[in-house]
Amino acid sequence: MTATAQPAYTRILLKLSGEALMGNDAFGINRGVIERMVSDIAEVIELGVQVAVVIGGGNIFRGVAGGAEGMDRATADYMGMLATVMNSLALADAMNRREGLTARVMSAIDIQQVVEPYVRPKALQYLEEGKVVVFAAGTGNPFFTTDTAAALRGAEIGAQLVLKATKVDGVYTADPVKDPGATRYTQLTFDEAMVRNLGIMDATAFALCRDQKLPIRVFSINKPGALKRVVLGEDEGTLVYA
Ligand code: UDP
Repeated sequence: MTATAQPAYTRILLKLSGEALMGNDAFGINRGVIERMVSDIAEVIELGVQVAVVIGGGNIFRGVAGGAEGMDRATADYMGMLATVMNSLALADAMNRREGLTARVMSAIDIQQVVEPYVRPKALQYLEEGKVVVFAAGTGNPFFTTDTAAALRGAEIGAQLVLKATKVDGVYTADPVKDPGATRYTQLTFDEAMVRNLGIMDATAFALCRDQKLPIRVFSINKPGALKRVVLGEDEGTLVYA
């Protein structure tokens, strides 16, 4: 791509899983991974694209997982949401220390001593100012996931694309780890993804994006430059569209 390359989008919502933050560690936040994510986001901001981020919490706590067995589900889910606040703070801190990047964290759960609450017009204002907005605490409700938060916030801010960063570089016909013959879809419709029972996002998130005709692109978190290529409209990962 040349320096004249124009982004295909003006506003995007990037969903990062908490587990991606672990890198090869067993849990927690890997510094190197955070720095790489910040570099990827900086490249896209430099193109003039408005970037909002939703980050998961699976690296610290997952409400439905083993560690929470026997716990009240809603309580466990609130712990999961608080975990996303920690990840959001770590990511925003790393962004704010990078020259040319400014980030704001907005939480769906009121913890005003720590982060400001999510207020939609304020979020839109920050985005227009070129600040990266990190939406923390998921949807603020138990029984949901941060995928759903990504779809919800994506729709609310009028994002043109939800980017789901995963360990795999797109959606495959079968699990590429188990089936070497699996091939990557470059694009497919929401209906095709449903018929083929491809787990793109959880059902609530998927339904919301489908209803709102908000396309999703699944791409690799580990591939350098992949985020920029997606934003430039290149063939990267898999596009799911209405
Ligand atoms: N969570 C929730 N409501 C939300 C978002 C998240 O209850 O709107 C909780 C839920 O327990 C979930 C945990 O937070 O397991 C971490 O979120 P998620 O599993 O989506 O993180 P990721 O898989 O992306 O790391």
